[in-house]
Amino acid sequence: MIPESCSFAYNGSQCPLPPQFIIEIIDEGDVNNNNKFMIGLTCLDHKTVLEKKFLLLQANNVVPTGKIVLTPIKVIHTDCIKGNLEDEEEVKLKRLLE
Ligand SMILES: [Zn+2]
Repeated sequence: MIPESCSFAYNGSQCPLPPQFIIEIIDEGDVNNNNKFMIGLTCLDHKTVLEKKFLLLQANNVVPTGKIVLTPIKVIHTDCIKGNLEDEEEVKLKRLLE
């Protein structure tokens, strides 16, 4: 299951913003298996902070080495939410025209 909020936490309080990027590590030493796994989620505000944090964790061997990639979550769900987004825009346009 994907958690519903950003992985960033400060002084024990978790960032309440919805995640916009999946943070994954690609193990380039295992090309045959396309070894890619999720290590966290981040909102737009914390993506740079979290990327740096994971680089530090990699340096300390807390998380596996490999290329850290950030994948926008919206791309994955495009087919599901496209209709809703268009509906929303239509509603907004109608409001502007009224
Ligand atoms: Zn955040």
